[in-house]
Amino acid sequence: MNAVIQTSPTQQQALHLLQTVFGYPAFRSQQGQIVDHVANGGDALVLMPTGGGKSLCYQIPALIRQGVGIVVSPLIALMQDQVDALAEVGVRAAFLNSTQSFDEALQIERLMREGAIDLVYIAPERLMTQRCLELLSVTPLALFAIDEAHCVSQWGHDFRPEYIKLSILHERFPDVPRIALTATADQQTRDEIIHRLQLENAMQFVSSFDRPNIRYQIVEKANGRKQLLDFITAQHSGDAGIVYCLSRKKVEETAEFLNENGITALPYHAGMEQSDRYRNQARFLREDGIVMTATIAFGMGIDKPDVRFVAHLDLPKSIEGYYQETGRAGRDGASANAWMAYGLQDVVQQRRMIDESEANETFKRVQGVKLDAMLGLCETLQCRRVHILDYFGQPSQACGNCDTCLSPPISFDGTVAAQKILSTVYRVDQRFAAGHVIDVIRGIDTDRVKQWRHDQLSTFGIGSDKSEAEWRALLRQMIALGLVAVDYENFSSLKLTEDSRAVLRGESRIQLRQYKKAEKAVKHKRQSAKDFAETNLNDTEQAIFERLRWWRVETAKAHNTAAFIIFHDSTLREIAKAKPRTLDDLRGVSGVGAKKLESYGEELVKLIAEFA
Ligand code: ADP
Ligand code: ZN
Repeated sequence: MNAVIQTSPTQQQALHLLQTVFGYPAFRSQQGQIVDHVANGGDALVLMPTGGGKSLCYQIPALIRQGVGIVVSPLIALMQDQVDALAEVGVRAAFLNSTQSFDEALQIERLMREGAIDLVYIAPERLMTQRCLELLSVTPLALFAIDEAHCVSQWGHDFRPEYIKLSILHERFPDVPRIALTATADQQTRDEIIHRLQLENAMQFVSSFDRPNIRYQIVEKANGRKQLLDFITAQHSGDAGIVYCLSRKKVEETAEFLNENGITALPYHAGMEQSDRYRNQARFLREDGIVMTATIAFGMGIDKPDVRFVAHLDLPKSIEGYYQETGRAGRDGASANAWMAYGLQDVVQQRRMIDESEANETFKRVQGVKLDAMLGLCETLQCRRVHILDYFGQPSQACGNCDTCLSPPISFDGTVAAQKILSTVYRVDQRFAAGHVIDVIRGIDTDRVKQWRHDQLSTFGIGSDKSEAEWRALLRQMIALGLVAVDYENFSSLKLTEDSRAVLRGESRIQLRQYKKAEKAVKHKRQSAKDFAETNLNDTEQAIFERLRWWRVETAKAHNTAAFIIFHDSTLREIAKAKPRTLDDLRGVSGVGAKKLESYGEELVKLIAEFA
């Protein structure tokens, strides 16, 4: 039989909507199949990385099917933008939440009953009210989309108790298809979603978790803030980015430091007034080029597409957390950076937090295992991406777009260096912290060294050939490997472990990563090795692009909405390249659908003509 690719009427309709409404030429990865499945009434569980394009998976079926698509989303603060973005492409959408007046809500409820609206976003606690369930029973329903479905998992960090009650949707409305979506990959969460939402019969769509446009970099921390500033100035001036810090205090200090140095930065953490948090979040979403310094309280559902970098000034607790946070960069598919500065103090601090937490032993053990995996990623000699994807159970090949691929680390036999550290730890009676141990190894005559007569030790000065930073890096790796322990209850003094004895006795040899002095970040605006969804612009095109961005700022202001809701950078870049003279020329550009063509086409063509 010849393999003739047949497209069903639903598939044709879906593609037509994708092209005319959203202005995109083709579905990405599994989007087409998911849309087809849900549009035909099937249940689905969709696991796709952040930026993978989950929204279209329920938006298009909601347009194809009769009735109203109900989107359950935990993030009230973001509903406005989601609805605005749909309005821009001409889709009838609204939300029901506590920010609107009773009259507004009544109006939307009426439209729902009439089926005169395509998509309605509702927070789960609202959805579960008697009033809302009754409304749903008299509304023609196209589907239920359960966004951020991992919120149902009690073990995850985003647990929302109201999510558990969502199984009621299946019981009350058994004929309405449900699509649950999440970017959280692990099997445990997946199983819990299926079980709690009664999705046993749903088709599962698991996408690749790779985010090829993100460049991973983990650098040795010397002066983290200064390194961050260099990184932003060299590679991301004028770009939007997120900087994650562990503590609220550090968030505030970092924001202040960046502002003092000419970078517009706003703080965000759970200790701030809610209104301040919302305001900062709204500015970050709407204005171009703002840096958000935040704790991990910031992030879920931040679907700003043009976040160009995510930086970590402190070590995340797990690879899951790291991947989710870094995943907020580059959702538009253009190149983005995930940058982290990591040092000895991070290891000590995270270990201590686990040790000192009030949690039960099982929980602590799990946290310890997760932290070790994260440390393994930091210290790896392998491609970072291979390492991460492997952690999520996905085999891959060296990526060419991470620091270890671009400038491979050098490993060396660190046995002798490790022995120097271990025997010094032993000779100072396991009673001193890292700073002092390193002073002794390097032969530094500090007051404390003299006071304890540690200049008399046989190991005093045996490591004068290496800098303090080098010794710190070695010690950090040894702590990460469990060859040295830190006693938090006793002034963070260093202790030997079971495993250290074998190294001391020369019975086991260890490979360590050679210290690399923090390099001055190279001054280049955009990565050149790999360009993703990015066209190189010549001078005229660059000028057009800048002009278009200005136009976009003005237009967004006039519409009281975010710039990216008008057009993405990638669309503006393509327009600058294509220099359309007519509306027909413009129609072919990715991201320009029928409604946007009608709203902005004339203006854009006129604007381009100025450059002819
Ligand atoms: P997710 O919710 O999975 O993080 P989104 O649904 O927000 O991702 O989509 C990420 C970005 O990709 C959005 O800006 C969206 O417009 C864009 N996008 C999604 N699907 C396509 C497609 N088929 N072609 C081009 N762009 C797409
Ligand atoms: Zn790599």
